[in-house]
Formats: sequence, structure tokens, C-alpha cells
Amino acid sequence: MGFFSGSQTIGILGGGQLGKMLLTTTRQWDINTKIMDPSDQAPARIACNSFVVGDLMNYDKVVNFGKNVDVLTIEIENVNTDALATLEEQGVKVYPQASVLKIIQNKCHQKQFYKSNNIPTAPFQLFESKNALKEAVGKGTVSFPFVWKSEAMGYDGYGVQIVRSNTDLESVNEGACMAEDLVSIDKELGIIVCRSPKGESVCYPCVEMEFHPTANQVEYVLSPARISKSLAKKATALAQLVSQSFEHVGLLAVELFLTKEGELIVNEVAPRPHNSGHFSIEASYTSQFEQHIRAILDLPLGNTENKVAGVMVNLVGKEGHSGPVHYKNLEDILAIEGVNPHIYGKKETRPFRKMGHITIVNKDLGTARDIAEHVKETIEVITK
Ligand code: ADP
Repeated sequence: MGFFSGSQTIGILGGGQLGKMLLTTTRQWDINTKIMDPSDQAPARIACNSFVVGDLMNYDKVVNFGKNVDVLTIEIENVNTDALATLEEQGVKVYPQASVLKIIQNKCHQKQFYKSNNIPTAPFQLFESKNALKEAVGKGTVSFPFVWKSEAMGYDGYGVQIVRSNTDLESVNEGACMAEDLVSIDKELGIIVCRSPKGESVCYPCVEMEFHPTANQVEYVLSPARISKSLAKKATALAQLVSQSFEHVGLLAVELFLTKEGELIVNEVAPRPHNSGHFSIEASYTSQFEQHIRAILDLPLGNTENKVAGVMVNLVGKEGHSGPVHYKNLEDILAIEGVNPHIYGKKETRPFRKMGHITIVNKDLGTARDIAEHVKETIEVITK
């Protein structure tokens, strides 16, 4: 193992906040890291050993970056998977594997994967273009309301729209897409699974996500979810099935819907550290970031149990504010016990931009949730 204070290097594609948080572990363990990101202002820049500016979708840039590392990983899905496949052929360990990422990158392929692996998911129909979808609506083979999803990776709901009428239909983007049944959601749940190359696998406890009513962004993540033990067990079994089907290496965040009828279905997955696992930094014995590093280096995986309950609040830019960022009332919330802010280091704020998160830990989940609401109402991400 030449990683610890040694000559071997982990390469990370993407230098956003997820990359920055992965580096907490590599610094703690004195592991060499190299990062590539399109922005020279990337948050992770300050904590890696070497940093390269480059387009993650560019085949040559990714191959050139990856050929000098021993293990290559990602913190964002939008990377050139042909380049990853080439690197794998050249002997670089790429986790998650190029083949896994290729399926996940395309929402339509991801849905087909669930169907062919008998993984429960909302019923859907695929279309090559917006016109083909419109024709299906005209013929009555797709009826309102439905959820339109672009095949291309969106993020935070940008490639997703509820379509209730022809006017809504006109407003969706061009391109290949799917029409998915609109699900009556009781709760949105998530489970993070981690797998190592030798097939060792661990699951974090099921979490519950509460959404902002209009921005469609996660506002609170509660760990553990407020659900029965038997439901949590079912959710874990489903996440394990998804993980076994993909045979990924590293983290896999599995997003689930609990329907009003009490059914559990898979919405989508992300093969990387995920917002729904940030609670683990303070609330778990092993943070998701450390776990990912353990997995991609084929080390023993860590304990995923909670030491304490955790509620995570996303710190997003306030509406009406664009420009140099200021965190108003941060001192006030720091005075509260169990409040742990994470500031990502982005210089500019924009409405709803993810600028940081705060995890509130407490032995009682309800108390943590109350404090989280107070924190959310107190702190403001605004311009100076
Ligand atoms: P993204 O990848 O952009 O986060 P998702 O597929 O997770 O997109 O969808 C974003 C949100 O939209 C979900 O968290 C959920 O609230 C809602 N949503 C997605 N699919 C459906 C569906 N079939 N029925 C009802 N709501 C949905």
C-alpha cells in the first residue's frame, strides 16, 4: 500500500464541495491527491496536492489527467466515460467503473437498468425527442399529469418537470426524454451503500429528506428517518439490491420514494458522495467521505452506525442576492450546542446556490430538527 505517506496518488475528477470534503480524509491519512476541475476557483483546490484546470467532458484532458494516477474517482457524474474506459484498459483503477457511470449518466438508461434488474421504480415510457413525446400525448398513449425527465444529467431538479397540460408540455426542453408516472409521495428516503472491490458492502441508516416547497431542493436531511424499523429494513434491502445489481465500487447514494400506498420504489442513484450523507461527518462513526476513500483503496470498510442523531440543513443563497457572499448571523448559530457549519468556499452567491451546509447533532432527533429549523431561520446567505 503505497498510498499512506507514499508515492501513490488518488485522482479526483471535480473539485467542488464534495471533492473538498473527500480531502479531509486524504489529508488525515497523508495520501497524495490530484484534482481536475473546469474552474480555477474550485473549492477543493486549497486541500489537494496538485490541481489542474480542465474540462471534465474532454476525452484527451481526462485521459491525460488520469494516466498518472493510481486510483481515479469522481465527485460529479458529468465526466467523459470513454476516457475512463481507456484509462481502465491502461490499468488505472477507476471507481466508480466507467460502465457503471455510463448507465447512471443517462436517466433513460438508468430507468431501463432498474426495469431489467427487477428493481421497483415508477412506470415510464422513453422518447427519442420532444416531438415523439408530443405525438404520444396526441394519441393518448401518455396522459396528463406525468413527470418529464430529460435523459441528460440534470441536477437539483433542473431536468425534471411535472407536465399537467399542453402549455407545460411546450415549455420542456428538446431532446431524448421519458414520461414517468406522477407518484403520490409520502416521504423521500435515501440510503447510502458502499462497496469495495472485493465485494464487501455496508449501508448507512435510512435518511429522510424534506424538500423546499417551491425550489425543489432538499432543505433538511434527517438521520435516522422517522419510519418504522420494518420499513427501514425493507428500504435497506432494496438499496442493497440496487447496489448488487450495479456492482459499483465506492459510494452509491440510492434515492427512494415511499408512496402514499406504502410502497417503496427507486427514484435514482448517484455513485459518489451525496448531499444526503453529509450528516455522517458528525453523526456517524465513519463519514461517507472516509468510507469512499476506504472503498476505492480496497481497505476494510468502517462502521456506518450513528453515534448520535443528525439533521443536515443546506445553506443556499437567498433569493434576490447575487454577488460576493456574506454569511449573516453565523456567530449566533455557532453559540448553539451541536451546530456544525460547513462553508464550501464559493466566493459568489446566487439564489438557491449550494454554499454550505450545517449539521445539527443531538441525542434526540426531534430536538435536532427543532434546532435545525431555528438555524435555517437565523442564518442568511446574502451579498455583502
Ligand atoms: P434530479 O436528478 O434533478 O435531482 P430527480 O429525479 O431526483 O431529479 O427529481 C427531483 C425531484 O422531483 C424528486 O426529489 C421528487 O421530489 C420529484 N419527482 C421526481 N420524480 C417524480 C415522480 N415520478 N413523481 C413525483 N415526483 C417526482
